[in-house]
Amino acid sequence: MKHPIVIAIDGTSASGKSTNAKLVATALGYVYVDTGAMYRTLAWYCLQKKIDVHDAKAVAAACRKWKTSLECADKKVHLLVDGYTPAKEIRTAETSAAVPHVAAVPKVREWMKKKQRECIQFGHLVMEGRDIGTNVFPETDFKFYLDACLQERTQRRAAEGVQENLAARDQRDSQRAAAPLMIALGAKVINNSGMTAEQTSGMIIAEINKRLAARK
Ligand code: C5P
Repeated sequence: MKHPIVIAIDGTSASGKSTNAKLVATALGYVYVDTGAMYRTLAWYCLQKKIDVHDAKAVAAACRKWKTSLECADKKVHLLVDGYTPAKEIRTAETSAAVPHVAAVPKVREWMKKKQRECIQFGHLVMEGRDIGTNVFPETDFKFYLDACLQERTQRRAAEGVQENLAARDQRDSQRAAAPLMIALGAKVINNSGMTAEQTSGMIIAEINKRLAARK
C-alpha cells in the first residue's frame, strides 16, 4: 500500500470517539486504532510497578524501558506489554484518574507518536485520540473533532457503569503544554448531543467520501 489513508478522530471524553471510530473502520474496512488505550496501558503499567504517575521523570523512564510490541488482529491494533494486552484493567477509575498525568509527559508523547505512526504498516487507519489531527498525523486530509454537552457525556459514561469527573480530565488534556486537546485545522467538528452513533458515523463517512471525491 503506497499511501495509506488515515482518518483522525479527536475529541473530548465520552464524545463517542470509540463507538464512531469503530463503526467508520468497519464500514470502510480500515484498521481501528484506539490511542487512548495506549496511554491507559502506560498508566496501568506505572500503577502496577508502583511508579508515581505525578513524577514525570520516573514515568518517562518507565516508558523508555517497558517491553512492548504492536500487533494487528481482526483489523484492530493492540499494544502488548511483556506479551500481554491489558483490557478491563485499563478502564478502571484508578487508571482513568492516572492517565492524564502520564499523558502530559513530553517524553511519553514523543514515544506514543512514534508508535502510533508505526501503525501505518497495517494499512488504512481510523485512529482516535486527542492529538491525532494536530500532532500524530497532521498531514492527513481526514480530520474530525467530536464533542457533546457535558451532561450527555456524563450520562453516557454512567450508562456504562462508570462515574467519572469528565470535565476535570478534559481540562487537564486541554491545558497541558505538550500536544493539548484542540480542534485541528481543517477538522470537521461534529457536536453529537442528541444524535445516535449511526447518525454521527454516517456524517463522518459522508464527509470522508466528499473529501475522497475532491482528491480525484
Ligand atoms: O480516549 P480515552 O478516554 O481512553 O483516553 C484516555 C486519556 O489518554 C485521555 O484523557 C488523555 O489524557 C490521554 N490521551 C491523550 N492523547 C491521545 C489519546 C488519549 O493524551 N491521543
